[in-house]
Amino acid sequence: MNFKDYIRIIPDFPQPGIRFKDITTLINNGEVYRSAIEAIKSAVSDKQIDLVAGPEARGFIIGAPLAIALGVGFVPIRKSGKLPGAVVEASYDLEYGKDKLAVHRDAIQPGQRILIADDLLATGGTIATTINLIKQLGGVPVGAAFLIELGYLDGRDKMDGLDVFSLMSY
Ligand code: 5GP
Repeated sequence: MNFKDYIRIIPDFPQPGIRFKDITTLINNGEVYRSAIEAIKSAVSDKQIDLVAGPEARGFIIGAPLAIALGVGFVPIRKSGKLPGAVVEASYDLEYGKDKLAVHRDAIQPGQRILIADDLLATGGTIATTINLIKQLGGVPVGAAFLIELGYLDGRDKMDGLDVFSLMSY
């Protein structure tokens, strides 16, 4: 199956010059969606994963079904102010300004092995911040898995030597 056939490229979204990789066309097809999750599962199944963590919102689309396929729990990484319980937070730089991600303090126990999942690896800022949160709680990031990697942005270099798997690369 050529997964790229199911990715829709939208020019000039959200800004002029960006060629946005739209994954909604892939997840719209149940067979292709399931195959993509199964392929990621096969690539990471040797990692003795305790939990999958994914940043909102598209990280949930990949991370939650992946967690179910692996038979483990899922940890939502959310924008600041969204989680109801006690959290730890970490800031990261956006093109304009800053943003903050948060995770529930009791979502990860020290020593638990965490696989990070998201739809797309671009500059790596989102995942670097997610790694920071996991480490604040004593979790052990053991890999990061994506549907898509934008190889020309060198996001892998921010992954702190973490094993990175991507189903498609541009
Ligand atoms: P990074 O932090 O690696 O620069 O950006 C990755 C985040 O931005 C991901 O959470 C992803 O959802 C979003 N993102 C950036 N560009 C694209 C794109 O072209 N397509 C999709 N689907 N998401 C993108």
